[in-house]
Amino acid sequence: MPVRALPNPFRGLVSLFYPAYCALCSAPVERDETLCCACLETAPRIRAPFCAKCSQPFPGAISDAFTCANCEDRVLHFDAAVSAFRSRGVVRKVMHDFKYGHQLHLRHLLGHWLAETMNDPRLAGRRFDSIVPVPLHPARKRERGFNQAELLALELQPAWRIPVQNVLRRTRYTTTQTQFDRSERMENLRGAFRLRRGCNVQGLRMLLVDDVLTTGSTLSECAAVLKKAGALSVHAATAARG
Ligand SMILES: [Zn+2]
Ligand SMILES: [Zn+2]
Repeated sequence: MPVRALPNPFRGLVSLFYPAYCALCSAPVERDETLCCACLETAPRIRAPFCAKCSQPFPGAISDAFTCANCEDRVLHFDAAVSAFRSRGVVRKVMHDFKYGHQLHLRHLLGHWLAETMNDPRLAGRRFDSIVPVPLHPARKRERGFNQAELLALELQPAWRIPVQNVLRRTRYTTTQTQFDRSERMENLRGAFRLRRGCNVQGLRMLLVDDVLTTGSTLSECAAVLKKAGALSVHAATAARG
């Protein structure tokens, strides 16, 4: 089921109602900017070395036999999960205000940070047939009023010209995972996702999108469902990495 973005005239109209001040420090900015240059520059980028599988940054130099502590002893079903920024400081604040403060206009800035994943060699030059947002359980989506992954995926659609398709559904209402460790998260999510009835992903190259990657368990569960249904490849991109 294809998802459509808000029409452009509506976007323009919405921007009129937001004051042109930096969302963090209240310095004046241009109408189409969310943060001032000084605040933007503090966004913590993920720089090498980092894990090729899950983008976990690693202090110091790494050897060829490098094993990431996050990926160790488990199978992650996505081919690679890419983030350009850490979920710290300004990035964490913007994400929080977007998700829990319902400041939906922040999706443009988060979408910009998400789009930077495409400069990463693991994604650059690859062709994708479909962008798939990580689904929320319908009850959670009703509570929040939106699926943050879907709004961010839609930010990618115009530039990338790849359809955003909600081919997955979340069948279990899982409690918040923040206090769980890695193995508890994996257990909590087992069987939580299904392919939507009538969706066919056979032979497709898919890009999963979520707001933030913490341990990678959610993206891995989604990737497992897509691959079992015949997807050719499943990469993942998130606006930030925990
Ligand atoms: Zn500022
Ligand atoms: Zn890793």
